[in-house]
Amino acid sequence: MKLGKSAAATDPGRRRRLNEDAYVCEPPLFAVADGIGGAQAGEVASELAAATLRDDAGSDGGDGRQRVDSLIQQANRRVYERQTQDAAVSGMGTTITVALVEDGFVWIGHVGDSRAYLVRDGRLEQLTEDHSLVAELVRSGKLSPEEAESHPQRSVVTRALGTDPDVDVDTFSVEAKPGDLFLLCSDGLTTMVDDSTILEEIDRHRDDLRAAAKALVRAANRGGGEDNITVVFFELESGERADERTVTLPPAQEGPAEDDDTLDELDRVEPIRVDGEPRRVPQRHPVRRKVLLATLAALLFLLACAFGGWVLWRSHFVGAESDGHVAVYQGIPWNVVGHVKLYRTVYVSPLLSAQLSQGERKKLFDHSLRSKSSARAELRRYEEQIGR
Ligand code: MN
Repeated sequence: MKLGKSAAATDPGRRRRLNEDAYVCEPPLFAVADGIGGAQAGEVASELAAATLRDDAGSDGGDGRQRVDSLIQQANRRVYERQTQDAAVSGMGTTITVALVEDGFVWIGHVGDSRAYLVRDGRLEQLTEDHSLVAELVRSGKLSPEEAESHPQRSVVTRALGTDPDVDVDTFSVEAKPGDLFLLCSDGLTTMVDDSTILEEIDRHRDDLRAAAKALVRAANRGGGEDNITVVFFELESGERADERTVTLPPAQEGPAEDDDTLDELDRVEPIRVDGEPRRVPQRHPVRRKVLLATLAALLFLLACAFGGWVLWRSHFVGAESDGHVAVYQGIPWNVVGHVKLYRTVYVSPLLSAQLSQGERKKLFDHSLRSKSSARAELRRYEEQIGR
């Protein structure tokens, strides 16, 4: 069995100017990194991690697992050293998902919420587990997978490369079969495109991985393109000779995608129905009774609204903005019907979520509702610690 073709594509998406994703597509080594941190720091982190993998790929020692692990540890050290020495990129970090093909096995090493998938026998299987807040909430049963998909905090990672001197890496291997297709990607693909669409696009372009990579980028942009999108493919085939062909797309040259023709989400809100109107009315004052009931229903409705509003106004929770800054939100951490939010940002901290330890992130982002002053006080504690 041989490593067959490979291809990669990356694109900033439709909402971001910078592309903070980086990738490696140098058979037999492949990787995707998604940088975290404000003001270009994310770009530095992901590129530094990718460069470390490329530089050290040739160094041998150990089996596939040890090599993948030591590549990632080395990348972690480089990013960590850089961010502790250079204030401009302090707090930066990156996800990393690495695949190394060796003797019929694909060794995967993984930190963060980028993903590795295997397409085998017409099925798409997610190989990696996301190290993200929402994935943890789903695993502990606090959130359904459907809720996780539209969750406002879905980009908060609980494990990242470069934020601590040591990093806990998931490593495992897959015994490859001829015809296997592996996909590494950043969350800019998977938050915008569902599994069945990914599989459809792959089926449609299975003979041309470059076209498949482009098609997935296009699909993510059609789905909103809210984040940078990176896709790396490689396949395994039977036979003697490796027919490698790596195609790299220049970033940001996709034509403007057709406009979303999504309906306004408000169109989907069910009308409120007031039950309780008598059907047969053998009453003496049917009209008066009707008016009374309607008034009562309206009053109850107003009361419910007022109570809902009061809950929203009182509740605060801690989360992170999409650029990685920790923030305090007023409301409750859910989206109802798509884009209608039940929360708003009331405070953005200079603190980056990547500057917190894994335990601190877990504790701070647990989504328990609290008063504004207690949320601010808790954040201030961390801000002072980091500021020191
Ligand atoms: Mn991303």
